[in-house]
Amino acid sequence: MLKRDEIINILNDDTKNDWLFTLANKVRKENVGDNVHLRGLIEFSNICNCNCKYCGLRCHNKKIERYRILKDEITKIAKNASKMGYKTIVLQSGEDAYYSSDKMIEIIKCIKQFDVALTLSIGERTYDDYKAFKDAGADRYLIRIETTDRNLYKQMHPNMDFDNRLRCLNDLKKLGYEVGTGCLVGLPNQTIESLADDILFFKEIEADMVGIGPFISHPQTPLNNAPNGNFTLALKVMALTRIMLPDINIPATTAMETLNPNGRIIALQSGANVVMPNVTSQKYRAKYEIYPNKICLNDNPDKCRNCISAKIESIGRQVATNYGYSHNKG
Ligand code: SAH
Ligand code: SF4
Repeated sequence: MLKRDEIINILNDDTKNDWLFTLANKVRKENVGDNVHLRGLIEFSNICNCNCKYCGLRCHNKKIERYRILKDEITKIAKNASKMGYKTIVLQSGEDAYYSSDKMIEIIKCIKQFDVALTLSIGERTYDDYKAFKDAGADRYLIRIETTDRNLYKQMHPNMDFDNRLRCLNDLKKLGYEVGTGCLVGLPNQTIESLADDILFFKEIEADMVGIGPFISHPQTPLNNAPNGNFTLALKVMALTRIMLPDINIPATTAMETLNPNGRIIALQSGANVVMPNVTSQKYRAKYEIYPNKICLNDNPDKCRNCISAKIESIGRQVATNYGYSHNKG
């Protein structure tokens, strides 16, 4: 396993990138094989009480048109995705208090009627909520730590508390969820050292899934003048994560494809083994503008699935037909 200093050296040295990406690809192949797991992503509400400085959904952004998709429509979207062959549904939203614990439980139960694993990505909740969601059938939870640099965390998240984020991750682990976390790469004032600490953090908490995304500047946020994150640096953080946590699930993130037209395929060849195609109906897609220039805004769920499947096959990999639990559990 790499030490902190070694991780920092690799992140700072671009002359060994080919070696790094080739090694991460080999570690991926030996530990999780050539299957690529597709997770169908439903972005069901863009209403958010938080005010994360980087995010277009932040509550102070008055320029976006807000929407909520209600239970019956979410269920219909999930059913359609399951018919298309998705074995995992990911429900993602802003931190929207409308979706009370009871409402979420109903939605979870509806989706679990289909033959799918269910991932939630709806932010910080209480232990009791997380327990109720698990009891209702949720299998996995995604909540990125975003950065382990406490000062930077504070700058980026007014009115949020780093320790509460940690508490959420610990609660989810305790409750037996498969836990996904991750970080942004390229935030203003973010250091290489803190990115190394992020990777060590993923290892320390024994994450089951880690999503790494480059920061993309949104014009309607306080970071409108900040430069975008660097694609190669994000890819390097991802590749190092694969080397440090050989058998976890690592998505080729959509934000990578926003910065590089072939970003997800490059990521799949540098350590990633998961893709999360959007299965939300086309009419909502443009409104879930976490960052600008998101891909596939004018596409529908069928097109996205066919397009990504063809790309995966073109590099000699195959779309998995099992649920894609972590650590090769099937
Ligand atoms: N509200 C939930 C889930 C939706 S946000 C939560 O925050 O956990 C999902 C992810 O989008 C966040 O974890 C963040 O890392 C990412 N994100 C937000 N704004 C972004 C930006 N400008 N560029 C890249 N990724 C961004
Ligand atoms: Fe809300 Fe998540 Fe965006 Fe933060 S990152 S503003 S919690 S949607």
